[in-house]
Amino acid sequence: MSDENRFSGAAASISPVRFGLNNKFVFECHKGVSCFTSCCRGINIILTPYDIVRLKNRLGLPSDQFLAIYTDPHMLDKTDLPVVSLKHLDDELQSCAFVRDDGCIVYEDRPTACRYYPLGVATLTHRETGPGDTDDDEGFFFFINEPHCKGFEEKKEWTVAEWRVDQGVDIHDEINAEWTDLVVRKRSFPPNIRLTEQAKKMFFLASYDIDNFRRFVFESSFLSRYKIDDKTAELIQENEVELLKFGFKWLKSILFKKGDFQPKE
Ligand code: SF4
Ligand code: SF4
Repeated sequence: MSDENRFSGAAASISPVRFGLNNKFVFECHKGVSCFTSCCRGINIILTPYDIVRLKNRLGLPSDQFLAIYTDPHMLDKTDLPVVSLKHLDDELQSCAFVRDDGCIVYEDRPTACRYYPLGVATLTHRETGPGDTDDDEGFFFFINEPHCKGFEEKKEWTVAEWRVDQGVDIHDEINAEWTDLVVRKRSFPPNIRLTEQAKKMFFLASYDIDNFRRFVFESSFLSRYKIDDKTAELIQENEVELLKFGFKWLKSILFKKGDFQPKE
């Protein structure tokens, strides 16, 4: 497979087709296809914050160790924002660290982009609409019909909405929604508006390194600097997903001065 960014669905050698929730496609991937696992090699998979929470918990690692062992940081095109991709193994095929001959060893907790394929998540890279387009809240997707993928020769038909349910992406998208919004918002800024290095560090911390973000919130002066009610403090201490969503709101306030995050007087 050509080196492509599975998060954006924008491969160099193919022309992705724009899809809405009711568009149909024929596809099925299973162990019987001759290309099985070939798409888990030589590919750039950008991880969302919730992907990292699922994977690091599955592997029993703190977030900083997961990031160090399994990811490569880089900047997302046209956003000036740090993202992390799954690291390739150092083999000839640049295999994903989680692929084996009989499939993915983290399948139940596989990243959002792996769930979506053969759809690309369009929201982050193509939110801007052209003349006559409508940019509704359902977002839109790209269908990527790659010639090497034998899944397109199978018989099963799906709508985009059915595929999303089957692959369990709704919960991922729901949890990541405010983070996605941050990226889209930054992407819409003129390129000369740059974030400070400190702002990028905070974005990385709250987006990807949840265990150190928890320490930052509860073991620094953070809680004395913002109006955070006791119920919220208790909730985010106990619930990692709530902490993640809280982090997205905080990032929105420090990066864009938006939302209801209030500093103490
Ligand atoms: S059928 Fe497509 S998605 Fe399935 S393993 Fe082959 S290339 Fe990957
Ligand atoms: S995480 Fe699993 S599904 Fe995704 S590329 Fe790696 S092995 Fe394949």
